[in-house]
Amino acid sequence: MDHLNNIFSNELESSKVSGKIQKIIFDIIFQHIQDLVFVMKVEKGPHFRYLFINESGMKKANLRAESIGKTLQEVLPAEFAKSLQQKYGKILKKKEILIFDDHFYFKDGKKIYGETILTPIFNEKNSISYVVAVTRDVTEWSLEKNKIIESEQRYHSIIENNMDAIMMISPEGKIVEANPAAATLIGCSEKQLVNRSIYDVINDHDLENFKTLLEKTCSGYAQESLDCKLIHSKGHLLIVHLKTVPILINGNINGLYVICKDLSEQSKNMEMINFMAFHDQLTGLFNRRALLEHLNQHIDSPSPKKQEFALISIDLDRFKYLNDTLGHLAGDEILKRVAERLWQFQNEQCFIYRLGGDEFNILLITSDRKTTSNFVKKVFLAFSQSFYFNSQEYFISPSIGISMYPYDGKDADMLIKNADEALFRVKERGKGHFQFYRTDMNAVFSNVVTLETHLRKAIDKNELSLFYQPQIDVTTGEAKSYEALLRWNDRDLGAISPAVFIPLAEDTGLIISIGYWVIEKACQQIRVWNEKGYNDLVVAINISPLQFQHPNLVPFIQTMIEKYKIQASSLEIEITEGTMSDTIETIPILRKVKEIGISISVDDFGTGYSSLNYIKQFPIDVLKIDQSFIRDILIDKKDAAITSTIIHLGRSLGLEVIAEGVENIQQVEFLTKAGCHKIQGYYYSRPIPVEQLEQEYLERNLNKKSN
Ligand code: C2E
Ligand code: MG
Ligand code: MG
Repeated sequence: MDHLNNIFSNELESSKVSGKIQKIIFDIIFQHIQDLVFVMKVEKGPHFRYLFINESGMKKANLRAESIGKTLQEVLPAEFAKSLQQKYGKILKKKEILIFDDHFYFKDGKKIYGETILTPIFNEKNSISYVVAVTRDVTEWSLEKNKIIESEQRYHSIIENNMDAIMMISPEGKIVEANPAAATLIGCSEKQLVNRSIYDVINDHDLENFKTLLEKTCSGYAQESLDCKLIHSKGHLLIVHLKTVPILINGNINGLYVICKDLSEQSKNMEMINFMAFHDQLTGLFNRRALLEHLNQHIDSPSPKKQEFALISIDLDRFKYLNDTLGHLAGDEILKRVAERLWQFQNEQCFIYRLGGDEFNILLITSDRKTTSNFVKKVFLAFSQSFYFNSQEYFISPSIGISMYPYDGKDADMLIKNADEALFRVKERGKGHFQFYRTDMNAVFSNVVTLETHLRKAIDKNELSLFYQPQIDVTTGEAKSYEALLRWNDRDLGAISPAVFIPLAEDTGLIISIGYWVIEKACQQIRVWNEKGYNDLVVAINISPLQFQHPNLVPFIQTMIEKYKIQASSLEIEITEGTMSDTIETIPILRKVKEIGISISVDDFGTGYSSLNYIKQFPIDVLKIDQSFIRDILIDKKDAAITSTIIHLGRSLGLEVIAEGVENIQQVEFLTKAGCHKIQGYYYSRPIPVEQLEQEYLERNLNKKSN
């Protein structure tokens, strides 16, 4: 150090400062100042040679006493020396103080941030002979500053790039800052948001709620709300999850952040999930869950005057058959079309459901029996038009059962069960109509399974038989044709009505084997009668729709005709309108039947979806007016009109018209007058067993002939 001291004191001598002061200055500079002080001698080149380095400079710049007298390049790392050389060079040119920030690395890798002042010292010739460099070590401060800058950048990054809308607001509610997500959410620019009041973008309805939220936040507690809505610049409302967070600076709350997560998409998804939970996916109608919920809502309604309502249970006739024969895709399509037709009835008082398969339900509010009946008639009317699928025309009729609240059930389960029970009865009684629930319904055959088990064995156990009901020719008063009607007398259960077991046989497929049994039995009977001399007669056999589609039907009939050596013309088949709804399938079968020489009769005519179109297209011979029209023919003008029209229609198409279910003379007179060809009904005879028919009809006819 002494060596250094000497050199420097020599230099200072020329500046004529008193020795004592010199010493003080020197000590301060040399020992006490924390800044790095360098005095550089300027030489030609220019070269800058270390003349003086204080202690701090030695230590912090990692220099040693040997550096004195050496140039920048000799002492410092090359890069650093180069950059300093430039700065020193600059001062020579500009001849004035130069201040710069710098950072430099020393050999040990230490990084120093410095704030340097270069001061030129001029000689008498006004050229610079020394440069005093004072570098303040700002490393700590710089690192601190960098940290602050970094954390500020991080903070900005969070705010700027946040997917959630973030607005910084003053305690009064003025928007001070808004991030891009906030601008996008509200539908304007960030600038447009700033300086506006947050209350401008809060839905009026939620203002009070938001004010409370803001107050609580300003007292230091973060808040959140799930049902606050914002107003989009285009006017629509945005559902958001809103959070407010206080901004605490030096212990004071000087504003808050409002953070909003857009829930519109999520709530759309929720709506979707909700929709799917309560709607049938195929048709979009309400589902079973919705039905139960709606029923319970109405039943639990707190209103003291409970409203009546009707639960209508609908099943599509022949749907199973269509689904099996056309395939499930077609089946689905049909269900969709049916749903569309039912949908037209949906309003605040009327809700439509699909429970699965072809089961539909309607809930009709404030409805008494009369309004319900009228409503159901409208439903039937909606089905009276055919459905088109793959350019094919189909007729689909509903069967409908109804239970009324509160009379037929006090809870949802009971109401559903009883509506289904009523529907089951409708199906038993030939489908295509409706029925209200009656309390006595449950009593009869609630155990369908037992019945089915018995029915399966009925043929083998010889429990089936055919009864015959004469059809009286109106002009001659004679019976030439007889309808064969199946009877089942179960050993354990007793006599069971065809209205009960035929639908069951149809649903289980048993009707095919039973049907073949009927055909064979009837042919055999004709043979027996022929042998007894009763030749000139016709037996009408009922063919179920399912059996009609069976590929073996026509060959089987033909085989039976041959086996029993009877004339085809002594057979007639009765098919229902339901059988005829599929023209492509039906016409060829009917043609074959006709070719054999068998006549074709349309049973229960008028109850299905009678279309003039098919009467014209199908090779049919006979129309059998359904007994439901005949029943009220004398009291209901509409039924009378329908009956007369059918007779007229049949006659004009050259078809024979039979009325069935005729029970009294007045009906006979009406029908005779209207020009009906034949009459079948209790008025003349119930269906009777073979022996009785022989005695009462066949024998008599034979006698008449021989007379
Ligand atoms: P359907 O073919 O329309 O037969 C007429 C039904 O009306 C018969 O009922 C008959 O007994 C009844 N009936 C006849 N005259 C009168 C009357 O004056 N008043 C009333 N109230 N009823 C009358 P049944 O024998 O109970 O048969 C019911 C249904 O069962 C039949 O209706 C038919 O669809 C079906 N069926 C009967 N036998 C067979 C069969 O062998 N095969 C098939 N597939 N179905 C059958
Ligand atoms: Mg019949
Ligand atoms: Mg009939």
